[in-house]
Amino acid sequence: MASDSLNVAETVDMFRFVSKFMIDQKDILTKADQKIGDGDHGIGIARGFEAIIDLLETTQFDELGVLLKKIGFGLMNSMGGASGAIFGTLFLGGAKAINNQDCLDSENLGLMLQGGLDAVKNRGKANPGDKTMVDALEPAALAADSQISLTDNLAAVTEASRLGMEKTKEMVANFGRAKSLGEKAVGHADPGSISMHLLLKSMTEYVQKR
Ligand code: ADP
Ligand code: MG
Repeated sequence: MASDSLNVAETVDMFRFVSKFMIDQKDILTKADQKIGDGDHGIGIARGFEAIIDLLETTQFDELGVLLKKIGFGLMNSMGGASGAIFGTLFLGGAKAINNQDCLDSENLGLMLQGGLDAVKNRGKANPGDKTMVDALEPAALAADSQISLTDNLAAVTEASRLGMEKTKEMVANFGRAKSLGEKAVGHADPGSISMHLLLKSMTEYVQKR
């Protein structure tokens, strides 16, 4: 469905919307990280996406690979913490998978998610079940279907990420500060999996409203 896709300028506009949306989630993410971490995840995410708003205002992009790469480095350099490396790597892996493309369509969405997932797993060594953002990202990447429209595909991967995020509530953590809590982390969702889900949810909202 060629019409159901975003060109580079529209993709930039989508990430502007995504950035504002993520900044608005600061309190929710802070509360989530206060329960099983050190409470800084909301601050990190907000700082990271403030940097992305600046980036999108000051840089011209003519293809998606460079756009995603600069978002990845922008997050990595501004967020700090474990999640700065992880969410930065998500975008860098996505960038490699859709290098030199000028259209975000259904197929490129799937490639981007798979490339991001591979890079995050390679860097962070977490697998599904470890109570990290991988628990939201992997089901999303697996749910991607290039045969349906970008809008429907985004809705499907977002729902898969939501279910994956919900499942982290039942898990004990094998990474990060939540690991030391053992069974006490059960009942609380992993903060990074909430961010991962909200990132996809905001992309879906953008294409649905367009
Ligand atoms: P920090 O742990 O340094 O305080 P944040 O609170 O910003 O960083 O982010 C924590 C989130 O990072 C976790 O909820 C988890 O989803 C994600 N995370 C941490 N380590 C890993 C890893 N090795 N692989 C994937 N995600 C990870
Ligand atoms: Mg934290």
